[in-house]
Amino acid sequence: MLKYKHLKQFMVESGTDVKLKEYDTDWRDTDDAKELGKDIVKQQAKDILEKSHHQLDEAQELLYASDSHSVLLIFQAMDAAGKDGTIRHVMSGVNPQGCQVYSFKKPSAEELDHNFLWRYMKSLPERGRIGIFNRSYYEDVLVVKVHPEWLDLKLDDKPDKKFWENRYEDINNFEKHLVRNGTLILKFFLHVSKDEQKRRFLERLTNPKKHWKFSESDLPERKYWKQYRKAFEDAISATSTKIAPWYVIPADRKYVTHALVADIIATSIKGLHLEYPKVSAEKMVALAAARKALEGDDDESPEHDADTQADVTQNAPDAPAAE
Ligand code: ATP
Ligand code: MG
Repeated sequence: MLKYKHLKQFMVESGTDVKLKEYDTDWRDTDDAKELGKDIVKQQAKDILEKSHHQLDEAQELLYASDSHSVLLIFQAMDAAGKDGTIRHVMSGVNPQGCQVYSFKKPSAEELDHNFLWRYMKSLPERGRIGIFNRSYYEDVLVVKVHPEWLDLKLDDKPDKKFWENRYEDINNFEKHLVRNGTLILKFFLHVSKDEQKRRFLERLTNPKKHWKFSESDLPERKYWKQYRKAFEDAISATSTKIAPWYVIPADRKYVTHALVADIIATSIKGLHLEYPKVSAEKMVALAAARKALEGDDDESPEHDADTQADVTQNAPDAPAAE
């Protein structure tokens, strides 16, 4: 596990005026990483990921058993930054019964008829579970900020500065409500460079196994790179809070992204200091009695087995008739 002070470099402090150019997209360019050398960094990332798989699995079981908290993981990024792959890798060691993933696409007519948080509220994880939002209510201050014509405005709303500030405020209040009710919220912005996005799009266009990943909107949306970046900077600046921080994760190297995200999740769940439920004195007595009864059970089993065997033979459909 990375030390907390190392993880903190990816966390956006509340009140920061975020400028994404100040955040690395390729962790290997940092002085720390250069000192270690490329291969060692890669190996280190693999080790961290492997260890955090194990830690995540344990953390998830504890989360389920203690039944006091839920975890909400939010993934936002430019196209091809690797949200899907990160979710797959990070959660690969976790019991599927303990987590649920929701991918949010363009809202339906029914969804647009409600307040903008409605569809996300319905998909929140219950206590004891990890909920993953692949895109989230942040789309409602990102994609529609870049394309205000896609907003379904009622009342006399205009998508001006105040309109977006109100939405940031709604989001902060919503998250405060969730945290107060026992939800741990971790928000990841996978920070990919424009060059790396181009490389990944080209791969999707040349590798037949990846053709399906290329969407018609990918190229037109790439033209809005600057506007998206600005929308991300505004949203992250306005909504990174102490209780629900954003992490800006370098996304040009997939192994770096996967290792950092897994580590941050495992470390943060550990930080909840959850405990397995304590068993009451009466329950301990009942457990001891049950154990004694079960251990004594062995003496009776041969007779019991013989009875069962006789029943099976008699009732078997094609048992030979007794002479
Ligand atoms: P990939 O990264 O693999 O392309 P994806 O998450 O982009 O996966 P797509 O089906 O390609 O999945 O795209 C989903 C689309 O839905 C995105 O263009 C996104 O901006 C859009 N979308 C999601 N939420 C909203 C929203 N609230 N309003 C408008 N558009 C939205
Ligand atoms: Mg897409």
